[in-house]
Amino acid sequence: MALIVHKYGGTSMGSTERIRNVAKRVAKWVRAGHQLVVVPSAMSGETNRLLGLAKELAPAKQGDAYQRELDMLASTGEQVSVGLLAIALQAEGLEAVSYAGWQVPVLTNSAYTKARIESIDDARVRADLEAGKVVVITGFQGVDAGGNITTLGRGGSDTSAVAVAAALKAAECLIYTDVDGVYTTDPRVVPEARRLATVSFEEMLEMASMGSKVLQIRSVEFAGKYRVPLRVLSSFTPWDIPIDEESRSGTLITFEEDEQMEQAVVSGIAFNRDEAKVSILGVPDKPGIAYNILGAVAEANIEVDVIIQNISKDGKTDFSFTVHRNDYARTVDLLKSKVAPTLGTDRIEGDTRICKVSIVGIGMRSHVGIAAKMFRALSEEGINIQMISTSEIKTSVVIDEKYMELAVRALHRAFDLDQQQA
Ligand code: ASP
Ligand code: MG
Repeated sequence: MALIVHKYGGTSMGSTERIRNVAKRVAKWVRAGHQLVVVPSAMSGETNRLLGLAKELAPAKQGDAYQRELDMLASTGEQVSVGLLAIALQAEGLEAVSYAGWQVPVLTNSAYTKARIESIDDARVRADLEAGKVVVITGFQGVDAGGNITTLGRGGSDTSAVAVAAALKAAECLIYTDVDGVYTTDPRVVPEARRLATVSFEEMLEMASMGSKVLQIRSVEFAGKYRVPLRVLSSFTPWDIPIDEESRSGTLITFEEDEQMEQAVVSGIAFNRDEAKVSILGVPDKPGIAYNILGAVAEANIEVDVIIQNISKDGKTDFSFTVHRNDYARTVDLLKSKVAPTLGTDRIEGDTRICKVSIVGIGMRSHVGIAAKMFRALSEEGINIQMISTSEIKTSVVIDEKYMELAVRALHRAFDLDQQQA
């Protein structure tokens, strides 16, 4: 008997019929002797629908003013899901109880719409499990110290599930989703993409941070920090497939590097179109400038990704960085109103039509010339590189978004990803 956490995404929760299937699958695990905690997302499309209603009432630009209320609103999608799922489980003959985040409680900080989990009280959940109940906990939402409802950012149910698994020291966290695992890249862009049987936690972190929408990045960080055994698998298999087959399917996130060493140098190509580039031109090249610019941006709770500073000419330099597209307007406003005046420039430029493409692999640590191979593949396609950033296990480039698919295909081919065995 093991304590297992299941997470079901919006597609799996998309209709009462699908919820019934989830309940049957969970029941199968319970009848095999396991203790189950289930963390569902909102029914597919629901979070978008709710946020759309808010947008009808107030333009996005004023977003800052009603962040607390956005969380109050958006969190309701998950509340519907836990209620329905607990009912479906009871209809399957199981004992089940549903909880909203504040009832557990899942304590978070107060950064509305992107709150971080601080702690999860396991007492109530444990007592229910001991009493033989299936516990169904809302994904995505929590509560801050002041009793305000918070949400964890889009895709945050993954993080809820992993955090619950960590708090309960669960044997495994299974993320059921509408893809059957982690791929070398998005199969919609490269039909030859292959599923990876295992992927290291660090690679997964890079892929998640760069747009592989399979898992929310914070969930991967959480899994790494607490070493939560994590598997991504399909929710479209028949609910009654044998448990041992189900437990071997999908992609396992591993923590053992050695297992991976035999594998490809590059494991995957990640890409995203979620970022925008901002440049501040003609700033004085002297100590404190980067802090001046990025300190103000960080203070506004805006995350920065790729950063470059050009060499200086006549004591002046240009400074560029990328932010999430949702933060683009806010960043430009901030630079114009607060930062530029202190630096003696008013030249702010921006571009939202960029994308970031990355090659990822822990094998890159022990191999040289990987980045050069990437740049060659891109140059052969005539693709101009605007920014570059590297880490031990990845190289990313920022390019014009219209070349994204071309770049991803070229890199997938250049690193033979269509060919190796997973
Ligand atoms: N329902 C939330 C969203 O759509 C959280 C999640 O599904 O993970 O972003
Ligand atoms: Mg998701």
